[in-house]
Amino acid sequence: MFLPVIIFGNLENNYFIGSFYSIIIKEGTMGSIKGIVEKHGKDKTRLLDIIRDVQSDLGCVSEESVLQIAKEMGLSKVEVDGVVTFYHFFSKTPVGKYSVYLNNSAVAYMMGYSEIQKAFEKEVGCSFGQTTPDGTIGLFTTSCIGMNDQEPAAIINGTVFTSLTAEKVRDIVSGMKSGKDVRDLVKQYGDGLNQSELVKSMVNNNIQKKGQVVFSPYETGSAIKKAASMTPEQVIEEMKISNLRGRGGAGFPTGMKWEFCRKAEGAKHYVVCNADEGEPGTFKDRVILTEIPHMLFEGMAIAGFAVGAKEGILYLRAEYAYLKAYLENVLSDLKKKGVLASFDIKIKLGAGAYICGEESALIESAEGKRGEPRNRPPFPVQYGYLGYPTTVNNVETFCSAVKIVLEGGAWYKKMGTAQSAGTKLLSVSGDCKKPGIYEVEFGTTVKTLLEECEGRTAVAVQVGGPSGSCIGKKDFGRRICYDDLATGGSVIIIGPDRNILDVVHNFMEFFVEESCGWCVPCRAGNVLLLKKLEKIMNGKGTKSDLEEIESWCKIVKAGSRCGLGQTSPNPILTTLQNFREIYDSKINKDLDFITEFDFAAAVKDSCEAAGRKPHAEEH
Ligand code: SF4
Repeated sequence: MFLPVIIFGNLENNYFIGSFYSIIIKEGTMGSIKGIVEKHGKDKTRLLDIIRDVQSDLGCVSEESVLQIAKEMGLSKVEVDGVVTFYHFFSKTPVGKYSVYLNNSAVAYMMGYSEIQKAFEKEVGCSFGQTTPDGTIGLFTTSCIGMNDQEPAAIINGTVFTSLTAEKVRDIVSGMKSGKDVRDLVKQYGDGLNQSELVKSMVNNNIQKKGQVVFSPYETGSAIKKAASMTPEQVIEEMKISNLRGRGGAGFPTGMKWEFCRKAEGAKHYVVCNADEGEPGTFKDRVILTEIPHMLFEGMAIAGFAVGAKEGILYLRAEYAYLKAYLENVLSDLKKKGVLASFDIKIKLGAGAYICGEESALIESAEGKRGEPRNRPPFPVQYGYLGYPTTVNNVETFCSAVKIVLEGGAWYKKMGTAQSAGTKLLSVSGDCKKPGIYEVEFGTTVKTLLEECEGRTAVAVQVGGPSGSCIGKKDFGRRICYDDLATGGSVIIIGPDRNILDVVHNFMEFFVEESCGWCVPCRAGNVLLLKKLEKIMNGKGTKSDLEEIESWCKIVKAGSRCGLGQTSPNPILTTLQNFREIYDSKINKDLDFITEFDFAAAVKDSCEAAGRKPHAEEH
């Protein structure tokens, strides 16, 4: 017997769909998985796509499905299980015919997350983390989905819902209960190309300020034509002259990266675009992908020409899957017009993991594995995708490269500061009247930005997302650039009515959730930091706790293998540095230790951890 699977539109775009109708008996399951694996050519690098399709088809990736995928793919059960359990959007238990993923980032909380959470629970009739008994709706939380300028926001079966209100939630839930396609529940489309046929999304671009580089006019195909009149070395030289640095946050010089990649020996080379902007608060790549994807693809082709690659991969974060069909259409249009010459670009979808923003983790994920960072050296430019020399660059970096080829490195270098040339796209959100995208020259002060976005009442600004710095008013004269306040794009404005420690707590929960667990200082250290922070927030901290938390932050930073662990203590460290008085006000200055011990609370905690009822409840 094979009960019908309800699928909205094509399978590729509906990976979030779980279906309670898909309680299929063994033979049906086996046949379905075999077909999915064959559809993807048993290609191990497409394991994420295979798992996604299995989940979409069968409602979850059960133990039985894991075994069957492993058998069909010639992989071990552990390899498949490791991938299924690594990514947020894969589940071994049913996630509902409709799976609601509500963003729980710090800005979502500022904009009314709690009210929306309650509204969903009331209308759906179950709590977050659960699926309704009939399997219709599952409620889950997820970290930043790239919609900080229009929170509260959620993704339901791949469709994005923004600026949620209790009333909108009522309508959406009622539509889901009556079996509607979620895409029909979008009442109004957003601005710009969000309205285009293949996007039809309620997301808004909110481009507040255009600059001279990324959001300035250019003719599609003109840059690749110009690059073809140069040698690859000349293109690299222009990048070096421009002093373009990676826009993902780390700021590695692009010309140097391309040169290393070109010189590295390999039967072939790859260009990978990192479109996995997962840093809470950043959404600038989403707007580029929506409005000027042709510029991005042209930049990738230029990089291919420079490093000697014929193939490129756009690694798209799962949260932006709603753009995939549209991006594929743009690619096919560019290919038809011959704009990309012989350079071939494929789009690969992630499945929800912040760590995949780290370039070596991204490559692992693109190869169909767990997105765990690699040990370095060798660097991706030497040993990257499938072991070939690979340059991984950010979406904004490729767009900047297009303008550098057209206008020259010297033109570009005139903008910005000595160490940080050009412009930077900032994703501004939080307590301001004009959240959205600002393309500013490097060197712009936080004060100027606050004027422009009308966030004048700010008491703190988080620059660079949770891994960046939280600064107070005395530092608003500081400049946004690599040599002062570096950011991959995220700027979160915190007004006078906010509790800064709540924001810090949210960021630490995020790091605990997102640590890949490979190294102990990051896996365990962040949990300890979170617990210590909670102790202080609950008024039970002492002077020793403040000293300890600082020294533990240093241990986590020094002992972690990748950027996540090396920066995860920053929310605590930078607020300790700039808002020490808030921590001091929370601790008991007279005691070096707390003498009271809440026995009942400790028993309750232990019972929760052990999954037992407290003694009194057992009788
Ligand atoms: Fe994984 Fe954290 Fe170690 Fe990075 S620092 S490898 S995220 S455990």
